[in-house]
Amino acid sequence: THVDTTFKRKTILIPKPLPPTLPTRRANAAFVMLVRNKDVHGARSAIRQVEDRFNRNYQYPYVFLNDEPFTPKFKELVRTMSKAKMTFAQIPEEHWSYPEWIDEDLAEEARYNMRKIIYGWSESYRHMCRYQSGFICQHEVMLQYDYYWRIEPDVKYSCDIDFDPFLYMQDNNKKYAEDNSLEFISDDDGETYNMCHFWSNFEIVDARWMRGEAYTAFFNHLDRSGGFFYERWGDAPVHSIAAALLLPRSEIHFFREIGYYHQPFYNCPAEPELRAKCHCDPNQNINREYMACTTKFLELTGGDKMIYPEELED
Ligand code: GDP
Ligand code: MN
Repeated sequence: THVDTTFKRKTILIPKPLPPTLPTRRANAAFVMLVRNKDVHGARSAIRQVEDRFNRNYQYPYVFLNDEPFTPKFKELVRTMSKAKMTFAQIPEEHWSYPEWIDEDLAEEARYNMRKIIYGWSESYRHMCRYQSGFICQHEVMLQYDYYWRIEPDVKYSCDIDFDPFLYMQDNNKKYAEDNSLEFISDDDGETYNMCHFWSNFEIVDARWMRGEAYTAFFNHLDRSGGFFYERWGDAPVHSIAAALLLPRSEIHFFREIGYYHQPFYNCPAEPELRAKCHCDPNQNINREYMACTTKFLELTGGDKMIYPEELED
C-alpha cells in the first residue's frame, strides 16, 4: 500500500508561532520605569513578568527615564525583552536638581539628622521622590500618553492579567489605581495624617489628571514648602493624599486581582476565582496592620471586603 511520507514528515515539523493578534481597542497608555543603568537586570526581570502576565497580548509601549544618559548596553539588554516600542529618555536637569528656594546646607543637615531612617541620608532618593511626585508625567516623552502604569526594577507580577487595566480605567472613569497597602488618610477628620497610603511603586495613573490644574497646584505648594529636601517626603503619600483630597472616591480603584510583589510586601488575592490565575501564596499577603488601610479603603469606597486564606479553608 501507498505510504504518505509527506504527510508523516509534515506532522513532525514544529509549527511556526502565530503572530500575536493584538486587540483592536487599546488605550493611549504606556509603562514607565525610572531606573539607573546598574539596575538593568532588575529592569529586565520586571519587564519579563509584565510581558508574560499581560503585555505580550497588548504591546503597550515602554518609557524608561533616568537622571543620567542610558548606556548602549542598557538599551540593548532591555530591548530584547519585548517587541513593544521602547523609549529611553534622560530627565531634564531642572526636574532633578535643587530649586532656588532650597537652602542646600539646611538640606544636608536634615539628611544628617535623618541618617538612621531608611534612605534618610540619601540625596538622590529625595530627587527621585520629588520627581515621581510631580514631574514624571510632564516629561516630553510622556506628554503624548493619557495613562501610565509605573513599574520598578525587580517587582513581580504573579497573576495572569487577562483584561486591560488601562481600558478598565478609561471605561470606568478611574483616575488613580494602585495595588497595595491602601489608605484613607486621616482618622480624625483631617487633623492628622494616619500614614495610610497607596503603594506607588505599582500605580496606574490618569496622567491628564496629574498634569491638571489641581494636582499641579497641590504639588507646587508642597514643593515650595521644601519638604522634599528638608524632610524625606515619599511620592506614595503625596500621590495618596492628592487622590484622596482631589478625586471623588469612585475615581480611585484597587486592582485586587493583580498579584504583585515589591519587597517586602505581597498583594496576593485569596478569592478562589482570582487565585486560580496566580502562583503567589495568599498567606503572604501584606500583614493586617497594613491591611487596616486596605479594609478602610474598601469600606469607604463600597468595595467587597478582603478575604483571608483561613476564611476559605474547609
Ligand atoms: P523604594 O521602592 O522606596 O525602596 O525605592 P527604589 O530604590 O526602588 O526607587 C524607586 C524607583 O526610583 C525605582 O524605579 C528606582 O529604579 C528609581 N530610582 C531610585 N533612585 C534613582 C536614581 O538615583 N536614579 C534613577 N534613574 N532612578 C532611581
Ligand atoms: Mn522600589
